[in-house]
Amino acid sequence: MIIDWNHIDTVLLDMDGTLLDRHFDDHFWLEHVPRTWAAKHHLPIDEAKEALYALFRSQEMTLNWTDLDYWSDRLGLDIPLLKREVDHLIAVHPFVVEFLLFLRQHGKAVHLITNAHGKTLDLKMHKTRLGPYFHRIVSAHDIGISKEDVRFWEALRERLPYDPARTMLGEDSEANLESASRAGIRELVYVSGYSSAVHPVASPRFTSVRHFGELLPR
Ligand SMILES: [Mg+2]
Repeated sequence: MIIDWNHIDTVLLDMDGTLLDRHFDDHFWLEHVPRTWAAKHHLPIDEAKEALYALFRSQEMTLNWTDLDYWSDRLGLDIPLLKREVDHLIAVHPFVVEFLLFLRQHGKAVHLITNAHGKTLDLKMHKTRLGPYFHRIVSAHDIGISKEDVRFWEALRERLPYDPARTMLGEDSEANLESASRAGIRELVYVSGYSSAVHPVASPRFTSVRHFGELLPR
């Protein structure tokens, strides 16, 4: 077994890329938004992509990155509406439901911990029906600090008491695993199969699984 479950009583799980296929998010921000913005401003698509990708990069690692209201204002587009246009791409990764059931059957506290904005969370929970598997769902927007920042994991303990020494975190972001490691979280698992459109590559730094089926007993 990769994880000794006797030493774990809380499991924190990221949403996008970890539980859900990140192909939706990548396609949305890298294709759908630039295409809509290009049409609105009568620009060639390549020009729109260049401008928007630079704008997106400028907000990486901040809460603006996932703030739909910020991007609606900044781009002059109805971002929640555009998300609904491509919501058929929202998909749960293989073995996620089996893994969540396994955790609940073994009495673990299971929480969804995401940088995603409330509006994104609502859309995705509505579409996937995963909400009831979690004891608590926390958005970094409610805390006001993003997960890349070590202070996030400390602030989270005030809302949701957990013992870092008895906690596992599953993530598709090495930056978030890194900050969680500095906050003392014991088991850090990187999901290399974060997108159905990308070939999985293991992390050089963290325990890696392509999917959560690898953490289930055989
Ligand atoms: Mg993620």
